[in-house]
Amino acid sequence: MTEQNACDLDAYALELDQAHIFHSWSAQTSAHASAVSIESGLGSRVWDHAGTQYLDFSSQHVNVNLGHQHPALLAAIRTQSELLATISPPTANITRGEAAKRLAAIAPEGFNRVFFTNGGSDANENAMRMARLYTGRDKILSSYRSYHGNTGSSIVATGDPRRIPNEFARGHVHFFGPYLYRSEFWAKTPEEESERALQHLRRVIEAEGAATIAAVLLEPIPGTPGILVPPAGYLAGVRELCDQHGILLILDEVMSGFGRAGEWFAFDAFDVRPDLITFAKGVNSGYVPVGGVIIDDPIAAFFNERVFPGGLTYSGHPLATATVVASLDTIAAEGILEHARDIGENHIGPGLGALAERHSAIGDVRGRGVFWAMELVTDRQTREPVPAATMARIRAALVTRGLLPFVSENRIHIVPPCVVTGDEVAEAMAIYDEVLTAELA
Ligand code: PMP
Repeated sequence: MTEQNACDLDAYALELDQAHIFHSWSAQTSAHASAVSIESGLGSRVWDHAGTQYLDFSSQHVNVNLGHQHPALLAAIRTQSELLATISPPTANITRGEAAKRLAAIAPEGFNRVFFTNGGSDANENAMRMARLYTGRDKILSSYRSYHGNTGSSIVATGDPRRIPNEFARGHVHFFGPYLYRSEFWAKTPEEESERALQHLRRVIEAEGAATIAAVLLEPIPGTPGILVPPAGYLAGVRELCDQHGILLILDEVMSGFGRAGEWFAFDAFDVRPDLITFAKGVNSGYVPVGGVIIDDPIAAFFNERVFPGGLTYSGHPLATATVVASLDTIAAEGILEHARDIGENHIGPGLGALAERHSAIGDVRGRGVFWAMELVTDRQTREPVPAATMARIRAALVTRGLLPFVSENRIHIVPPCVVTGDEVAEAMAIYDEVLTAELA
């Protein structure tokens, strides 16, 4: 292919995108303006048709934990597709069973069953449904600063007699989880922030009435809202509050699991045991859409003689479960959890620390594993966020210099694949440095 042809293909990709794709999360014209054409990938890098290389420091949607084109995942898809490419949920199938068995093995003792979904949103919907049916209560408490999905009305619209009427119109109550850098509680230390956030949650539970609350739904480390690593003791404190009031604890590991935070599950670092675990994304690096709920034995047993009124055509899809098996085996065999921890402690953490010394616009850095954020401010005293227009310029400048970033509000999230190397982190830090110098000087 000539260089001219290759450039034409990138132009054609962008033209198709503009003409026919309706984009998520965006005004359509701004989505078109920031679109990048990507043809191929390998590890932490992707390329367009013309050969322009990008470091993928977004992991796409923070899901490509094992990097692009991992041979073990590609082989699993190939092998399974040649054997059986689709199968309905009630059928017994070894690949599906092996995937569930492996998920049970990495979950705490006493989690033995898995309900598979197509992604993270429907995992959370089904976990909330299980919690409501199990407790006989309605309300779900979750943090204002959270992201749990983007579906919900289809069950309400369903006319099938097995539906639960108005299931998702029922109570949702939000509360303020801990966020030391922007604490509502004016806390100065992590301990204070934890204690006051727990007091606040205690009061919300009392005001709502504990007997009406089915579950607290939490990301152990809220990801999309800013990689808000909780202070020590907070998650254990939430568990204690739940136990006092017969409330279930659902931990959403969709973004934080499978190496992202340097653990199988981020909650492993915080000494807390949930009742339901939701997952998606990094469980198979997003090669085939999949998610699900890992269920504590008593909740699973509750449905032994009761119908669970939920199911999805593609629950436990063979291509998806084949990649789950391959992915979990690869994470273990390649020491990905240890690697992610090493990258966080010895490369990303120190790299961001050094950047913060050079750039007063960096107000805060936080994270663990390959799950980090830097928060940009116009003034370190007032902590005024850098305006959206400047963040859009920073985003564009990063792309121009060959880095695909994850930018949200006034933050840059540093979320490369877990297989990223120390050299690639150093390369990325040099690009962040250049861009912050150019755009914020
Ligand atoms: N939970 C969390 C913590 C997430 O980050 C996301 C996706 N960003 C979801 C749920 C929703 O997952 P999906 O987009 O696969 O439905």
